[in-house]
Amino acid sequence: MAERYDYIVVGAGTAGCIMAARLSEDPGSRVLLVEAGGSDRSLIIAMPGALPFVYQNTRIGWGYRAGPEPYLDGKTIDEKAGKVIGGTSSINAMIFNRGNPMDYDGWAQDGLSDWDFAHVLPYFRKMESFADGPDEWRGGDGPVHVTRCPAAHPLFETFLRAGEQAGFPITVDHNGYQQEGMHIAQTNIDKGVRWSASRAYLRPAMDRPNLTVMAKTMVKRIVVSNGVADGIEIGRRGSSRIISCDREVIVCAGAMSTPKLLMLSGVGPADELNKHGITITAEVPDVGRNLQNHPGVDVQFGTAFEDSLTSQLTAPRRALIGAEWLFRRKGLGASNFFEAGAFLRTRADVEFPNMQYEFLPLTRRLIKDKLVPVPGFQVWMDLSRPESRGAVTLRSANPADPPLVIFNTLQERQDLQDIIDGVRLVRGQLLRQPAWEKYKAEELTPGPDVTSDRDLEAFVRAHMGTSYHPCGTCRMGADEESVVDPEGRMRAVSNLRVVDASIMPKEVTANLNAPVMMMAEKIADRIRGLPPLAPSRASYYMRKQ
Ligand SMILES: Cc1cc2nc3c(=O)[nH]c(=O)nc-3n(C[C@H](O)[C@H](O)[C@H](O)COP(=O)(O)OP(=O)(O)OC[C@H]3O[C@@H](n4cnc5c(N)ncnc54)[C@H](O)[C@@H]3O)c2cc1C
Repeated sequence: MAERYDYIVVGAGTAGCIMAARLSEDPGSRVLLVEAGGSDRSLIIAMPGALPFVYQNTRIGWGYRAGPEPYLDGKTIDEKAGKVIGGTSSINAMIFNRGNPMDYDGWAQDGLSDWDFAHVLPYFRKMESFADGPDEWRGGDGPVHVTRCPAAHPLFETFLRAGEQAGFPITVDHNGYQQEGMHIAQTNIDKGVRWSASRAYLRPAMDRPNLTVMAKTMVKRIVVSNGVADGIEIGRRGSSRIISCDREVIVCAGAMSTPKLLMLSGVGPADELNKHGITITAEVPDVGRNLQNHPGVDVQFGTAFEDSLTSQLTAPRRALIGAEWLFRRKGLGASNFFEAGAFLRTRADVEFPNMQYEFLPLTRRLIKDKLVPVPGFQVWMDLSRPESRGAVTLRSANPADPPLVIFNTLQERQDLQDIIDGVRLVRGQLLRQPAWEKYKAEELTPGPDVTSDRDLEAFVRAHMGTSYHPCGTCRMGADEESVVDPEGRMRAVSNLRVVDASIMPKEVTANLNAPVMMMAEKIADRIRGLPPLAPSRASYYMRKQ
């Protein structure tokens, strides 16, 4: 008998786990979830403090590199993405941020009228169980556990106090009424364990008879006949086969792999497909375009005072941390270390905080070509809504080859200026406060001599990194040029939907996991024909200019 499903979900990542779990709630729907990576049942994935090991593990990531970046002197940049059940939610840093309400109101102003804050808030509430309890903004009984970090290390408190002394507000819940200001971070960590999309949604659904999960299976192309998606071609253990689909193929392969897969299926810009000899099934010029990210840099400080986490992470102590986590799910092993942060503005003419800061109470210094932990701390900063745009294209027609990813980071002058001003805000405002006095902090990078715009520009171009938030490559919109419509449906191909970070029309002021979850929850309801959740009347903070 031919293998047939009602829905085929490609990619068991953040969005894919939610789609598969929600669609299989209807017992009459046969759902197939296909994932290139393998099992996520691993201690390093479950243990938040093992994050550095997760980052180094090549078995659970795609190993993509972006670039050469034309505005960063041809530099290539590591651009991680999870290749494992749970996708990038299984390898990410677990920081939970929803974004600024104005991000979504901006989407609505661009035509996506039911993606404004009032319409997305009910889905953010639906998906979460916030440990501090529900209110108008927060959810109390969803599958995604969100907790406020203990932030017990004294440096976190110092960071917050210094921000206050510099005149920035402290916000009690940056995922509630007011995002802007200094905050104690919130995470997808529950009882000491990473709360990935797999743990929240997929594992509880695994025993359903109408859900099939195929791991270690690469989708090579979507089968499109006469403008209709009717199946997928998979590669498994060296052979290929076609699986058919009666209702929809839902692509959730992430912002870099989704456009690649569409192009391999003949859906994309004609010139790109012709270049690689791929037969065009639907010409869609914008597939792969509009690529955005959150680029950023670290500002690092050494301290005379041995009071940073660095001293608690020596090899013998690390063994104790591992043991404490293993037996009690407590201690530093239960932390992602990013326990405080801030959303701030570097200029008065933006309505939203254009810079996100993440504070880490430890740092490392390059000594004789080796990164050595030293007493100190560092502040990561990234641009919330950069103006530069890049693209994902193909390296070849071979599904095994990675896509060509070029962000064009710092193409726009404003992005460069914002990052330079962001560095100045840290050293000139956040650090120049009485709260730091006892630490006698000394700037390690960029370094006290790097002060002019020119020198800071050189520093930023040389050290520019990423928060790993690619998005936008299959833009959702109400206009005919957009790749997908406001419900994620491909305009040019029937029975084909995209639901993942690639459909975000514009970056949001947040790490992307929670926003992608919200999008998946909202679109899953549309596919199932459920009535949309009633828009919220909750207000939100807007600073007076
Ligand atoms: C290192 C890192 C740290 C991060 N930290 C945070 C954080 O702290 N907080 C936060 O909110 N966000 C964070 N993010 C970002 C966030 O996790 C992602 O934006 C989000 O998970 C993207 O979800 P997605 O569904 O779009 O894609 P993914 O979760 O990446 O899912 C795509 C899935 O599709 C699979 N796939 C791809 N191609 C194929 C194919 N051809 N066949 C079969 N399967 C395929 C992949 O293996 C993957 O499982 C981080 C990202 C990274 C890389």
